[in-house]
This record gives sequence, C-alpha cells and structure tokens, in this order.
Amino acid sequence: MKYISTRGKAPALTFSEALLAGLAPDGGLYVPETWPSFTPGEIAGFKGRPYADVAFEVMAKFVDGEIADDILRAMIDDAYGTFHHPATVPLVQLGPNNWLLELFHGPTLAFKDVAMQILARLMDHVLTETGKRLTIVGATSGDTGGAALEAFKSCDGIDTFFMYPHGKVSDFQRRQMTTVGAPNCHAIAVDGSFDDCQSMVKSMFAHEAFRERVQLSAVNSINWGRIMAQVVYYFTAATALGAPSQKVCFTVPTGNFGDIYAGFVARQMGLRIDQLVIATNENDILTRTRATGVHKLGKVRPTITPSMDIQISSNFERLLFEASARDADLVVALMRDLRKGGSYTLPEAVQSFIADNFEAGAASEAETLAEIGRLYRETGYLCDPHTAVALHVARQHAKPNVPMITLSTAHPAKFPDAVRDAIGKTPHPPEWADIAKDRAETVTRLENNQRDVEKFVLAESRLGSGQNVRDPEGNP
Ligand SMILES: *Cc1c(COP(=O)(O)O)cnc(C)c1O
Repeated sequence: MKYISTRGKAPALTFSEALLAGLAPDGGLYVPETWPSFTPGEIAGFKGRPYADVAFEVMAKFVDGEIADDILRAMIDDAYGTFHHPATVPLVQLGPNNWLLELFHGPTLAFKDVAMQILARLMDHVLTETGKRLTIVGATSGDTGGAALEAFKSCDGIDTFFMYPHGKVSDFQRRQMTTVGAPNCHAIAVDGSFDDCQSMVKSMFAHEAFRERVQLSAVNSINWGRIMAQVVYYFTAATALGAPSQKVCFTVPTGNFGDIYAGFVARQMGLRIDQLVIATNENDILTRTRATGVHKLGKVRPTITPSMDIQISSNFERLLFEASARDADLVVALMRDLRKGGSYTLPEAVQSFIADNFEAGAASEAETLAEIGRLYRETGYLCDPHTAVALHVARQHAKPNVPMITLSTAHPAKFPDAVRDAIGKTPHPPEWADIAKDRAETVTRLENNQRDVEKFVLAESRLGSGQNVRDPEGNP
C-alpha cells in the first residue's frame, strides 16, 4: 500500500517512509492511496478479543507486509503491555446506552499514550532496519511531551527533546517529563510561553544545517502512525456493544482532529457508525465550519481544556481531501486562502459531505464544570474536563436505541484544578502513577533563545555530538 499527500505534489511513499517523514514535502499530509476494509463478518469476529489482537488486525492492513507479522505483533504486545488495565481501553457504563471509553490507562494517564507507545516502537524498528538514527524535537503545553518522552525512552535510534514553558505546566505534567530517567530523553524548561517553544521548533526545522546534522523529526499528530493506532479502539468499543449488527455513536473531544478523524477512518474501513460527533470547547471553529461552510481563524481562547485550545486543526486537511473526493488542487487552494487571509469557504458539496458525516457541538467553560459536577452527583464518577466537554455535547445527540460512546481522553488527576472547581474535591492519580514522586527530576533550564536550545541538542544528541555510529549488536 502506498501513501499519498493531500496536496498531490509529493511522491507516493511506503508505510515506513511515511512513518518517518511525518509531513509531506509539499506541505500536505499522508493518507493511504486506497482504504483497506473489513467485511461485516470480520468485524463481528473482533468482539471480545484482546485489544492487541484487534490492534494487529487493523494495523496490519496499513503496514501491508512491510514489517513481518511476528515482529509487528511483538511491538503491539509490548506497546499495550505498558497499559495498566487488562482491557487496555475499557468501556464504563454511565447510564442506559451511555458509555465512556477510557483511553487513559497508559503510562502518562493521557490518551496520547495509545498512539505514542506504538509509534515509538514502529519508528525505532524502521530506523534500526536501515541503520539510521534521528532526533525528535518538540514543544508541549503539557500532555504530549510526557507521553512522547515516556514512549521514546527505549528507542536506541532516537534522541528526544521536549521544550515546555517553565512554570506553566502542572507539577504532575512536569514530573512526567523530568523523571523519565533515560539518557536519550531530555526535558527542557524554557523561560517563555508555549508559543515561544513552538516557534523555536518551527525555526529549527527551517534551519537546514541543524536539521540535516541531527536528522530532525517530529511526532505531532499529523503522523499517519498515530492516526492508524487510534482507529483500533473504534472497532473494539463498537463490537463490544454489538457492532456490526448494532450501530453505535461516538462523541470525541476534539483539538487537532486526529482522534475523531480516526473514527472516520474506521467508518471508511467498514465499521457502521451512526453518528460521529465533534465536541469542542469555546474554541469552536470546527463546529462553525460544519454549520456555515466558512472556516475562519480567530484568537485561541485559553480554557480549562488546554488540549483542545486550537484554531488550526491540522488533521482537518485529511478530511477536506476526502470530502472533496480527493481533489488535491482544491486542498492546496483552501490552505492558501487560510494562510493568506485567515479563512476559507468550502464548496457546497464539501460542506454537505462534512455535515452528512459528522455532527458537532461545543461546551462553554460553565457547561464543562457543570458536567463534571452532574456526573459526579449522579454516578460518583470523576471525569476530566476534556471528557466533560464531550459528555455535554454527547447528551445533546443521544438517540434512544443507539449506544453513545464518549471518548475519555485524560485521567481527572491530570487536571485537578478544574475538577476541584467543579466539585470541591481533588482527584488522585492511581497508586502506580504516584511512584514518580520519589524519583529525582532531571531538567535543563534554557533561555528563550533558539541558539541555546540548538547548542544543547547538538551536545546531547548522538547525531549532534558525532556518536552516530550504531553498534551492529544493537547496543546504544
Ligand atoms: C490531544 C487531546 C485531545 C484532542 O485530540 P485531537 O486528536 O487533537 O483532536 C483531547 N483531550 C486530551 C486530554 C488530549 O490530550
């Protein structure tokens, strides 16, 4: 299977190539040339199987033989062996036909673990096969950095650096980044904002000599490997509740459009999903786009659901490609309008495709807090604010005879302030996650200065410091 760019001007790549490339050289995102699919009988066969079994069946369709089955299977077992629940991503019932899919039982209590854990292993495997190394540099406002550093710590071929704004992430999030305890993983506290960190990453990618020397790479949510991993739980959750003979609905708290796009991919692969509901916070650009066909950037408003505080949802481009019947020229034109004038208007056929395939709704800050409180009073269940946004929206789309599955993307202990504001109680992390409390923190504090950060990456990475000869035995 080949992977093509949504902007149509980049050569088609193999799975392994697309995995390492991330973004296409024409600025587009990679998607499979054709959609693989399952028959209703095959989908029915997923019911009740271990998560890793279904993960293997789904991912094998996209890997398409490029990695030997037994190796792929071992990587999947390893990746999901890090999860602290025998069901990996368990379903919890909140009411009649009302279900929560808990995606936060991974090592950093965030749904990002589901994709990062397997992405790290896949990338390391492909690099090792070709005797290469690379260096990942990223910026994080909290969650992604922890999940990435944790996932990439055992990768011999990869040095990983994550910058975060000093003093602006929670203690819990900081500790997750600073207690990884691996020589190839580095947390950098920058004296600046998240935007400062982000813009330094962009400048480093534009700095060719640096980029080439360290073989700079990124693990942001546009990587096809991350999308692929997220398709799996749509199949496990839907079949657990009776698919394919029973249709189900999903509501997904949305930021970069990666998670909900994976649901769309599951549908392309044959899963019968009744409604796919986009849930946003007050940054509701996607909800407005669906309703009006006009995609107009505003200012990002900071909310109690920071992982959804996004105006540019990168993966939305993949949906535009599909909604326009894969018209790459149209995608290029829309992206140019967005860059130049801060907005684009969808052709009617594209807008109606999106409106036919997705429902959408938004929750205000007050509604989000009220939802945490209501759920706690009714069921005793504590949810995180991102999950609460989705539960609020899901309630407005509930249908009497169709199970509604809301994706729960973080453990409430990751966002204790919002939960305390809602119910006056502080949520606690599970005991195993508290272990990090005893570990020493390792972090490098740097000024908001690209030169200083590059110097640090050059000194600490194996490619930058000239130790890029790989041991044939595979030792670091
Ligand atoms: C990343 C994230 C989201 C949004 O997921 P997208 O794939 O970016 O839409 C929602 N909730 C939490 C807690 C997240 O970390």
